[in-house]
Amino acid sequence: MPLKEIGCHKCGAKVKKRIGEAINLSENPRVINDVIEGKINFSYCPKCKTKIEHKTHVLLTYMDPPRWIWLVSKKHQHPQYKDEFFTSVLPPGSTQFIDQEMVFVEFGEPCDCLKYVLDDKKPQSSVDWLNLGKIHTGEEAINCYKNALKMNKGLSEAKNLMNSEMNKLKSYSL
Ligand SMILES: [Zn+2]
Repeated sequence: MPLKEIGCHKCGAKVKKRIGEAINLSENPRVINDVIEGKINFSYCPKCKTKIEHKTHVLLTYMDPPRWIWLVSKKHQHPQYKDEFFTSVLPPGSTQFIDQEMVFVEFGEPCDCLKYVLDDKKPQSSVDWLNLGKIHTGEEAINCYKNALKMNKGLSEAKNLMNSEMNKLKSYSL
């Protein structure tokens, strides 16, 4: 893994870390728990103790069938970011052949609902679907909120989040 220098966004101190390009979950299944528990892609500044993200996105991969899951910093959670990433950042054609997803997390914080993405567990309740919606964006998030509302029509948080996601979609796809 290449050694990379990262600057602390608060005090400017430099930290050197070994940072890999991708994590192969088929070869390292134990990493799945670290990901769910929020233990990857960050460290604390040696000087001011601020939490520093190593990278904006971490690529998690599965083989056979190939599946790529982009774990992206929560500050980018917007359908426009995702669409632009998949159309302009990725190598042309790669999205056709590999099943790719994007979910948004706060690195350093546990995210229990990642188990529905990484662990083949199925959401059981309206709240499970609501929480799953919160780590997605765009159509995927809307579908999660719809599933939540199918199970519990009165779940106003799902309704509100669904509307706000629909507005985000409208705001740029004109
Ligand atoms: Zn610092």
